Amino acid sequence: MDLMKAITDHESVVRSYVRNFPAVFEKARGSWLYDVDGNAYLDFFAGASVLNYGHNHPELKEALLDYISGDNITHSLDMASVARAEFLEAFDRLILQPRGMNYKVQFPGPAGNNAVEAALKIARKVKGREKIMSFTNAFHGMTLGALSITGNSFKRQGAGLPLTHSDSMPYSNYFGPEHNTIEYIDRMLQDSGSGMDLPAAAVVETVQAEGGVNVAADEWLRGLQDICRKYDIMLIVDDIQTGNGRCGKFFSFEEAGIDPDVVTVSKSISGYGLPLALTLLKPEHDIWEPGEHNGTFRGHNLAFVTARRTLELFWADDTLEQDIARRSSMIEKRLLEMVRKYPEAEGTPRGRGMMQAIEFGNKELAGKTSAVAFKKRLIIETAGPDDEVLKLLPPLTTSDEDLVKGLDIIEDSLVEAMRELGITKKAASE
Ligand SMILES: *Cc1c(COP(=O)(O)O)cnc(C)c1O
Repeated sequence: MDLMKAITDHESVVRSYVRNFPAVFEKARGSWLYDVDGNAYLDFFAGASVLNYGHNHPELKEALLDYISGDNITHSLDMASVARAEFLEAFDRLILQPRGMNYKVQFPGPAGNNAVEAALKIARKVKGREKIMSFTNAFHGMTLGALSITGNSFKRQGAGLPLTHSDSMPYSNYFGPEHNTIEYIDRMLQDSGSGMDLPAAAVVETVQAEGGVNVAADEWLRGLQDICRKYDIMLIVDDIQTGNGRCGKFFSFEEAGIDPDVVTVSKSISGYGLPLALTLLKPEHDIWEPGEHNGTFRGHNLAFVTARRTLELFWADDTLEQDIARRSSMIEKRLLEMVRKYPEAEGTPRGRGMMQAIEFGNKELAGKTSAVAFKKRLIIETAGPDDEVLKLLPPLTTSDEDLVKGLDIIEDSLVEAMRELGITKKAASE
């Protein structure tokens, strides 16, 4: 059987990543994927940060297999189950309490966009207002509410109807570092002639992952929180891709020291690639009627089992955080070296924690580098409105040795991609 043909013949043309990484994958372990021909690929994409702890972590797998073989309950809607209770207890004990946080946990449905939709609904319900403040180059998912606060015009037009009830404001550094967009937003809200309605909430990513790895300054995030408090607007942090340790701490906003009203969490929360999403709410905003936001897969027991085990394995002490800090600086240093060594690439490195990236002068260079890297068996994605940013998302558990291996492949691929695109030192100095 031609496996790829079965996919191209029968699956909708909407399919996407399979086009950039055209192999049929069969097995995976840690930071490595294996295709049906037995080729090994180093994974610097990690399911868009769903696999922060690598593929098929042996201890998570064991917890899952034990749970299944013991005939423990798999599906129970939101009826009480041991797995659900144990996850909630562990999340409170290992994540919320040590950080002095007080949130109620809502299970809105299995995907990130479910967490975003629930966040928008509760903000509108609490504040009794319709508008949501979003940001340039934001990405929050593909359902209508999430799309209405997403920047990318290609994704937005897929909605097929007007996306309303949101206002897009300039993100941190949108006009460069010399412009303070917080002042602009403040003025828009304060001026009764600005044409801007008071929103129920502002929804923000601390690093815009899909939008091109745009990093918000800590000061900007604090400024946004001040504005939200000044105008009685709820602050929602979408931590779906930036959370779960990706940017250094469990929550990406810990270093900025902000205290969001609502936090959306998904992607790596199950630790194993099983779908799970959380919408974290301050107790005073938890004003749902029972069943008002319902759904079939709101918290799945198999995901609860691996999620709890993940918290115990990786978040009971600061070993992982220290590893992330060391690996982040390894990546940062190497990317800086690369952009200095190849000035003709006109590269700008940026990122936070283990979400690092390079934006190139030539918008085709990131995509070309990713394509060459795939031939060299490294999986690495692009981001940004024109896919002009090469984005590194290795599992947080990637060994230092594999990290160096991947960075070497990136450098080789960049050199080859520049050659293919005719980008030379001479052209850059013209
Ligand atoms: C992936 C992502 C989402 C959407 O999650 P889905 O599971 O694809 O619905 C929302 N916000 C951010 C920041 C994301 O990275």
